[in-house]
Formats: sequence, structure tokens, C-alpha cells
Amino acid sequence: MVPQGGNTGLCGGATPLADGAAVLISLARLNRIRAIDTDNDTLTVEAGCTLAAVQAAAAAAGRLFPLALASEGSCMIGGNLSTNAGGVQVLRYGNTRELVLGVEVVLPDGRIWDGLRGLRKDNTGYDLKQLFIGAEGTLGIVTAAVLKLFPAIRSRVTAWVAIPDPAAAVRLLGLLRANCGDRVSAFELVGRKALELVLQHIPGARDPLPGAPAWAVLVELSDPAADAPLGLQLEAALSAALEHGLASDAAVAVSEAQAQALWALRENISEAQRIEGISIKHDVSVPVSRIPDFLERAGGALVQRWPDVRVVVFGHIGDGNLHYNLSRPAGADNPAFISSTPEVNRIIHDLVAELGGSISAEHGLGQLKREEIARYKSSVEIDLMRAIKHALDPKGLMNPGKFLPGGIDGLEDGLEVAAPSGK
Ligand code: ZN
Repeated sequence: MVPQGGNTGLCGGATPLADGAAVLISLARLNRIRAIDTDNDTLTVEAGCTLAAVQAAAAAAGRLFPLALASEGSCMIGGNLSTNAGGVQVLRYGNTRELVLGVEVVLPDGRIWDGLRGLRKDNTGYDLKQLFIGAEGTLGIVTAAVLKLFPAIRSRVTAWVAIPDPAAAVRLLGLLRANCGDRVSAFELVGRKALELVLQHIPGARDPLPGAPAWAVLVELSDPAADAPLGLQLEAALSAALEHGLASDAAVAVSEAQAQALWALRENISEAQRIEGISIKHDVSVPVSRIPDFLERAGGALVQRWPDVRVVVFGHIGDGNLHYNLSRPAGADNPAFISSTPEVNRIIHDLVAELGGSISAEHGLGQLKREEIARYKSSVEIDLMRAIKHALDPKGLMNPGKFLPGGIDGLEDGLEVAAPSGK
């Protein structure tokens, strides 16, 4: 049984194996908003609601549901839970895991677990809902969830800031958080090559700081109060940053349209990369403090091996999460480039592991990284994961061939994985 939502996943988690033996279960028609409780700040929704519909239901009640992703118009909340989706506001509000208070799940034996509690405090044993969040449908099918709501945002300021290097980005983030606290709602790193691809391929895209150095960050402060002095706060922080050499220039949006144009530069990177041609992608995380080290060492190792490599880097630096992608070198042919994927992965993933990071920060494992993870998780951790799978799904009925290396479901061989696209 392979549960499917919006089919926007990037690791083949909702794609059946090529053996044709799976039953697909679409959650798309299970799409009601079941309840909203504004005093409790909770929203109860069914798995097939698109993320945009969930956001809209929260907004209609004067609240914010903060999960935000490029695919929000088509991805579904059940899939967001099953992959523990991240996105651009994790810095302030956390991953999906932190936004869920309860779940309803159909178990592999056919029973339904009604765990739709709206409690922020509940210390009554194992926190079972967390087992199903990020499980990629391998333990059961999430059919509904109770989500946390937050105050609606009524003021916002957005800026594009040129920085000398990634180390400055980490220090600038620290400075902003020290001065503005949780008002820092986004802090996105954009490498120059990523920006150049957007300027080249996306109609209407304009460089906010022409001639700027190799790196920039997109910063956003936001607040529920309509008159929060965010512009002044940001200005003060940026002038301190300029003084300390953490930034060389900044463009602060003075209208909603300008803010949207800055966000479009960030959000169109994946699309621009797709237009440019084939790429080898990584979704990695390391502790924020080690990002500069990671970027320097990864870049160095790749250039040494492939002098013409084009590294396209962007990501959620406040969460330590980088999208570290290699665009095909000019002149190289696709098959030769793609055939180097295992070697590239080894360089990048081994370095990530050495720095205490993760080879899948927010996209999950699916089929794409199912065997790769065996190299990076300890046998103790794999054993614990298998024990949980055995306990809940002893017959291996749920989403076979995903997630667990080697598997318990006799499907070690014959995996066929389509190349992922998108963000
Ligand atoms: Zn991302």
C-alpha cells in the first residue's frame, strides 16, 4: 500500500516500486477542514487538504499556520506530516514535527488510532504521533491532524544583504537574533551562481545589488503588531553589520511588490536550475556554526576533482540546511555528468557526516537515499528503526522499499528511482 498526496516529494517516497505489486491510496478526496478552535489555537484538518488550503483556513480565522514551501499550492498536509516538511520559516516556528499536536492514523492491521488531541502538555507515555511524522507512510496512513496556530503577521520587512562570505552570514544571523529575537522569521543564503541562474532564466528578475560579492542573504523580520518598528530595528542591525564588516551593502524593500520581487529571486532558484539543465542535488544540514567550514571544504574537494564544476548553493542557513547542487559543467554531456553522482555524493555526504550533519535535512529518504543512509546511521539506530517497523507493520504492507535500508519486506533488489525534480 503506497499512500499518495500531492506527488510533490523529491525522494520517491510516494512512488511505487517498479514491480507493479503496489496498491496506490490517494488521500486527495479526504480534504475537509474538520474543526477550528481559536481559543485553543488549533486547526483539525484531513490529510488531503493542500498546504495552501490549510494556510487559508488559518488566515480566515485571523491566525497563521506557518509551514510554507514552494509547492504549497499542490502538496498536501498528509504528505507534509509524512516527510516532516521544513521550508522557509523553520527558523522561527520549527519543522512540521513541531507544528502538530495530534494525528489520526489507519494502522497496517486496519485499526484506526484516533490521536486527534489538541494538547500542548500530555506526558502520558510514548509520544506516538511523532512515530508517524516523518515516517513516509511506512507505519500507517495519516488521515487527519490537529495543527498549531499562531498569531497572524501584520507587519513585515524584507531585505537583500550582500555579505563577504558564509562566515559573515552566520555572524549576521547571530547579531540579528540578539537584537530582534524571534522577529527574525527568514534568513536565506543565496550563492552568486544561484542568483546568476535566476537573473539569466527568469523573466523580470533583477539584481537588487549589481556588482555585489559572491554571497547574499534574504532577511525577513515580521511581527503580529501592525505598527511594529521593524524597519528601524533592521536598519540598526544592518548598520552594525556594515560597521563590523559582516555586510557590504543592503537593499531594503519599501513596498510589498519589492518584497515579493526579492522573495521571487530566492523561490525561483530551483526553476532556473531546471531550465539551465540537469543537476546533482543535495539536501544536507550541519550545525549552523559549521556551515562556513562545510562550504569551503566541499567546494575545494569538488573543484579539485572536477575543475569546471558549477556549485549552486542556497538554503535555510538559520536551520543549518543547505541545498547544495551541482549544475552540469558547460560542455559536459548529461550521461557522463550524471554517472558521477555516486562519487559526488560520497564526497559531500562523507563531509556532512564528519561535521555532525545529516544527508537529508528536509526532503526525507524515500527510495533515493534508502541505501545511502545505511552508511551514515549506526547499526543501533537502524536496529531501533527496524524494531519499530516490525512492531507496527510485521507483514511489511506499508510503503515497501522506502526508507529502511535493506528492508524487512524482501524488496532489497529491483529499485528503480526516477530522478527527482523541483526544490
Ligand atoms: Zn528547502
